[in-house]
Amino acid sequence: MNEFILKGVAAAPGIAAGFAFILGKQDFIVPPRAIMEKEIPIEIARFEEALIKTREEILTIQKKMTSIFNGLHAQIFDAHILVLEDRTFIEEVIKRIKEEKLSAEYIFFEVIKKYMKIFSNIEDEYLRERVGDINDVGRRILKNLMDENKLHELDHLTEELIIVSHDLSPSDTASMYNKNILAFVTDMGGRTSHTAIMAKSLGVPAVVGLKDATLRINNQDYIIVDGRKGLLILNPTSETKALYKIEQTRIQEFRDQFKDLRDLPSETLDGRKVEIFANLELPEEIPTVQKQGANGIGLYRTEYFYMNRVDLPSEEEQYEAYKHVALTMAPHPVTIRTLDLGGDKFISSLQIPREMYPFLGWRAIRFCLARPDIFKTQLSAILRASVHGNVRLMYPMITGLGELRQANAILTEVKQKFKDEQIPFNEKIRVGVMIETPSAAMTSDLLAKEADFFSIGTNDLIQYTLAVDRVSEETAQLYEPGHPSILRLIKNTVDAAHQANIKVGLCGEMCSEPVLALILLGLNLDELSMSPLNIPQIKKLIRSVKLMDAQKLAEEVLKLSTGDEVEEFSRMRLQELAPHIITNNQES
Ligand code: PEP
Ligand code: MG
Repeated sequence: MNEFILKGVAAAPGIAAGFAFILGKQDFIVPPRAIMEKEIPIEIARFEEALIKTREEILTIQKKMTSIFNGLHAQIFDAHILVLEDRTFIEEVIKRIKEEKLSAEYIFFEVIKKYMKIFSNIEDEYLRERVGDINDVGRRILKNLMDENKLHELDHLTEELIIVSHDLSPSDTASMYNKNILAFVTDMGGRTSHTAIMAKSLGVPAVVGLKDATLRINNQDYIIVDGRKGLLILNPTSETKALYKIEQTRIQEFRDQFKDLRDLPSETLDGRKVEIFANLELPEEIPTVQKQGANGIGLYRTEYFYMNRVDLPSEEEQYEAYKHVALTMAPHPVTIRTLDLGGDKFISSLQIPREMYPFLGWRAIRFCLARPDIFKTQLSAILRASVHGNVRLMYPMITGLGELRQANAILTEVKQKFKDEQIPFNEKIRVGVMIETPSAAMTSDLLAKEADFFSIGTNDLIQYTLAVDRVSEETAQLYEPGHPSILRLIKNTVDAAHQANIKVGLCGEMCSEPVLALILLGLNLDELSMSPLNIPQIKKLIRSVKLMDAQKLAEEVLKLSTGDEVEEFSRMRLQELAPHIITNNQES
């Protein structure tokens, strides 16, 4: 088979090579398992037992069919028995188990696949139709050879595999935490879709928006995923495999050189300190966050808490989780964002039709204001956790001061109740606003008067400003973080915040790309919050340049006319100011 390259959208950096696991078509998952010499007879015996068991099953079904249909249809099973008794096929499996020293189910599956391919290419129609029989018998034998559960659920995944899926919901990806997943690839999705964000937080490479990967790839195909360039290589040649092996080592070396950075301040050469925070999806990521040397959590996406469950999380449960994060991160700040439901994040327990909360619909703060019961439960949990560390609270998707006031009015109610009931909480808890709609950015001067801090959510700000769906692979090329409109909105927001003497951070994916991070530094952002694994290289960047130079760059790019011009100019300047960053950073 020839090597074949598919191009998609680079979503999470790194390289992975391994066997494909097609989600949704996963009835045949048979990873190779090496066996020892002395296990060969055991594997052969297992195979023979599976054949006998399958034969018994087929004969029983055949008997039943004969009595029901009076002999009609029962002859189908004769063909199945013939497959089962085919000596050439049986001997090939046994021979290969002996020679290759791999498990019976793996070898069997390889051989059956080969037979199916041969038969499907035969011109004779009758013989070609035997593919169905082989497939049927093959499934039965395989089930008898393996623990059936293993053939299905992702939950039972123990082998290291690459997930290939048409789409992955945030709840799918959340359930993959701590599984042996080497990489993700999906047909759908853009670079800031939640599949991509989750892949980054799991620390695995990802390529999204491949359009028809699930049609071209079969379970157990060997593939290479290049998350830096957005490539998927099917049936790589041995040269390609060798090249990628070298690349993998190079990336590892590149990452290793950042180890010493962990405890150093994120400060420019001329002394400007920029806080580097981590974005958190699941509390399980905290050890990684700490290992990468984050100065706090700039965005805790609490909606993952509400996924993969049949009910809503109680106040107590939420409190325990928030308290744990606050305590482990103390004295560093933990910015808990209230429920950002909607867009591509759905919550099954609410049983609200998806079309109710699309990106422009009834989502995030809009939903919370309409469902104060759910909102108050979360606010109560956050307030209770606020005594255990440095907790900040943040509202998503604010479009103007009216919404901020409404949200704060509900918060005041909860605070009052706490006071009445003498429940301790931090009365000075800082309450921030995400600036992720053009409207919020344009009215940031008004918002700044009543907010304690801002965090610019460029993932959404870009999609709303450029009218480009962030999860669509079709429009991924139009999703331009360096577009002049985006830079102007960011500048406007930073200036408004500083005018009002409040801090302003940025927690969208763009701040983890050095070429763009340099511009953000020059635009005077106070905090950058990103996927933990991106922290070291951005810290290295900040420590390699002067604020003055970054500011000059920002001034210059603000005069340019297109996103491409902006990125190109900044890439060039980055190379001059910090050449090691650009050469080392071929990773992303
Ligand atoms: C954003 O919109 O930039 C953001 C950080 O929030 P999310 O990706 O969760 O929508
Ligand atoms: Mg957002």
